Amino acid sequence: MSLREHAMTDSTDFRKKPISPDDYVTLAERTILLEQRVRELELEREQIAAERTRLENEVRILQAELNKLRQPPLVSATVIDVLDDGRVIVKSSTGPQFVVNYPESIIGSKLESGAKVALNQRTLAVVDILPISIDPFVQAMNVEESPDVTYGDIGGLEDQIAEIRETVELPLLHPELFEKVGIEPPKGVLLCGPPGTGKTLLARAVAHETQATFIRVIGSELVQKFIGEGARIVREIFYMARKRSPSIVFIDELDAVASRRLDIATSGDREVQRTLMQLLSMLDGFDPRGDVRIIAATNRPDILDSALTRPGRFDRIIEFPYPDKEARVAILKIHMRNMNIHSDVDVSMLAAKTTGASGADLKAICTEAGMFAIRELRDIVDREDFNKAISKVLGSIGDRSDATDIYG
Ligand code: ATP
Repeated sequence: MSLREHAMTDSTDFRKKPISPDDYVTLAERTILLEQRVRELELEREQIAAERTRLENEVRILQAELNKLRQPPLVSATVIDVLDDGRVIVKSSTGPQFVVNYPESIIGSKLESGAKVALNQRTLAVVDILPISIDPFVQAMNVEESPDVTYGDIGGLEDQIAEIRETVELPLLHPELFEKVGIEPPKGVLLCGPPGTGKTLLARAVAHETQATFIRVIGSELVQKFIGEGARIVREIFYMARKRSPSIVFIDELDAVASRRLDIATSGDREVQRTLMQLLSMLDGFDPRGDVRIIAATNRPDILDSALTRPGRFDRIIEFPYPDKEARVAILKIHMRNMNIHSDVDVSMLAAKTTGASGADLKAICTEAGMFAIRELRDIVDREDFNKAISKVLGSIGDRSDATDIYG
């Protein structure tokens, strides 16, 4: 029965009453109304169908979430070796090593030693390759895109500048020179000298001149509480250095991890030794012509392990002595550059009075002299301010004769 017929039979009793012309008008109106109603219902049906599809999708997503939550945890591990027979040796995070299978189709050639993987808990088969993560501790390490110190900010270290330029700057900027001559540049450069003699300053300056990222690590930061943590941090630092290359890794206070190894050692010492071994192996596996350079600094070269200073590791040693008179003049001039100095101040006289002072002491003297002037509400620093600053700064230094024994 058509809709029109239905509309007619639904409300009109034909047998009781003959159809008048007026009835035709009513029927036509009713037909229009019903057709309109049909259109409305069709629209409603479409809306309900769309809502149903949306809800079905939501159910599917929630189901997937639920399945994820029901899955057993995976074991994280590191690949030690990939065997020819389609299996791998992995070291699980709990300690032991296993020989396990992996699905060739999923992982293929991306599996290599050192990769982080996830293992199935029951079969220990590799099910996924995990992204390499950098420890937040390493991420937060002192990284400078390109420090703002230049060679012009360093006084009296001409020989040291020349040496660091040829061992760090040349391999970074002109590696082809070493290739042509057929030699390898030194892998690591060790800066030795008393505190405050400009070792960090020079390392930052060379990073600036080469536009390299400067990653500063303090040796004592590598000494960690848990076994294997220090070694892992060393690995991650080198990974980060490669990722942000060209870069310069500067390890300050190297003696904290690299002091001579002894036969009688506590478990704490052994952990420090493990960190040192990792550092040595990173240095060994390092491309000397690559764009990551390593500089280390120490105040105690006498206690360093000899394995570190053998050729092929930190094989270039640059000494930083206390500045002589000429160098002190140069350093004072650098730190007085932006100061408002009275004409009665004689720099060479100041240099003569500051025998035994380091670069950092000379900087402190300039700052103190400025403070004396400010204290007396003057905006110009005179000779008397410098005299007071010298006795204040150098008076607290004490005897430095012991330092001379180490540095010669
Ligand atoms: P530490 O062994 O304690 O780490 P360091 O040798 O690395 O000391 P720096 O941090 O380089 O010492 O020096 C400290 C400050 O002393 C520098 O920021 C700089 O202002 C000043 N200074 C040291 N040597 C010089 C120098 N030769 N020329 C100019 N300023 C210097």
